Amino acid sequence: MFRRDFFKFSILTAAALTTVNASTNEKVKINSIKTKVAICGGGFAGLSCAKQLKSLNPNLDVTVIEKRANFSSCPFSNAWLGDIKNISYEDLNYDYNSAIEKYGYNFVNATISDIDKDKKIITTENGTIEYEYLVMAVGIDYNYKKLFRRDVEKAKDCQIKAPAGLKPGSEHIKLKRMIKNFKGGNFVISIPSQAYKCPPAPYERACMIATYFKENKIDGKVIIIDPRVKPAAKPERFTQAFNEFYKDIIEYKSNTKFKDVDFDKKEIYVESFNKKTLVFEKITLPFEEASVIPPNMANKLIKKAGLATYVNGWAKLRQPTFRSVSHEDVYIIGDSQGEYPYPKSAQMANSCGYLVAEELVNRIKGKGYKYKTYLPGNVCYSMVTAHKAVSISHLYEFTDKVHVTSITSDIDTFTADAAEGWYFGLIEDILGIESLR
Ligand SMILES: Cc1cc2nc3c(=O)[nH]c(=O)nc-3n(C[C@H](O)[C@H](O)[C@H](O)COP(=O)(O)OP(=O)(O)OC[C@H]3O[C@@H](n4cnc5c(N)ncnc54)[C@H](O)[C@@H]3O)c2cc1C
Repeated sequence: MFRRDFFKFSILTAAALTTVNASTNEKVKINSIKTKVAICGGGFAGLSCAKQLKSLNPNLDVTVIEKRANFSSCPFSNAWLGDIKNISYEDLNYDYNSAIEKYGYNFVNATISDIDKDKKIITTENGTIEYEYLVMAVGIDYNYKKLFRRDVEKAKDCQIKAPAGLKPGSEHIKLKRMIKNFKGGNFVISIPSQAYKCPPAPYERACMIATYFKENKIDGKVIIIDPRVKPAAKPERFTQAFNEFYKDIIEYKSNTKFKDVDFDKKEIYVESFNKKTLVFEKITLPFEEASVIPPNMANKLIKKAGLATYVNGWAKLRQPTFRSVSHEDVYIIGDSQGEYPYPKSAQMANSCGYLVAEELVNRIKGKGYKYKTYLPGNVCYSMVTAHKAVSISHLYEFTDKVHVTSITSDIDTFTADAAEGWYFGLIEDILGIESLR
């Protein structure tokens, strides 16, 4: 199997891969424009949906609105942090122009400040966009209030000094510097108890930082603070990796909740469940560097647009569809959705983007769509050493609700090669760029 076939192989959805002859494409400067389908967010979900809409119907007027000037990836950023597989910063960052040119949708580079779902108008700093159908693919936001309540200064400090690193760009660059300049001591990673973007990411990151310490003979320890009994994803394999490859480097603290941080004293305060005394004990952890992940929620724009969310902040959808319960013409895909037990992954975002494109094209033609038959699929790879990885595949079935079955791989070099093939295959698919690797 060729490298990129790993990605094609992993598209488990029904979406057909048709070739596009892009005829109209432009980077749009706006005052006020109209479009048939507006896609908010040019991340994995938004770009997948836009590409597939144009693939299925090249004449459809599709507009992506994205605040970033370039595409920046979270997948494979941990490999870059760990200095493995020769992953460069360029491998994570791409221009949008190639995709715009190849797939032929309109692209507005602007920050969305508001959406009037009833009048069907999106407001940006550059003007407004009127739409018929709206796809919200704006990802996550952090909820620092849950960690620090009204202490806004502490939240700001934490975001800057101990970046969560679940949003690409600055946070990753800062983490890279923290790791490269690390002289020794504790590097603490704190994980929230609620759902967050990419469940395996913090454990993979711990492995990658530990790899870097080993490789560069740094006398450092990675301490993972986790409120769970075991890792949130691939638990047996990550536990195996911590014990087999990083026994003296990674300390996994289960049943442990982050309570507070003092950046002057360089101390993190946690409560950890003592299995012998059966009580929670207060513990002070000294640290040199830390990455504190706050609880996540759907991008604030969703609530601002009057689209219903659950108390935990994720968007409510009308089952079995991806339509918001608050409006028939609004779809919500990618990490923001909270309706289905789908992991917040790039593969899932891609898969759901394809499904919604299929539904929309059918809907515009006046045809129905069988959501209960065509479900998304997921595969997620995690690097655990410089040459070995583990993967998990999820298969879904809709009966009374969505049911999932999963298969976890061994930790091996074959999976590491598959991970690389998957990543560059996905990038090629949504950005229309062939990797130079
Ligand atoms: C460290 C790490 C490693 C990961 N590794 C993997 C992996 O190996 N495999 C995997 O499948 N997944 C992985 N993921 C998860 C993956 O990155 C996410 O699930 C995926 O990015 C979700 O896609 P999305 O389109 O929903 O959100 P995003 O990709 O976050 O896209 C949202 C887009 O909306 C834009 N936006 C937000 N607000 C506005 C606004 N107001 N105006 C205009 N634009 C706006 C943002 O700029 C962004 O481009 C990883 C995540 C992390 C953090």
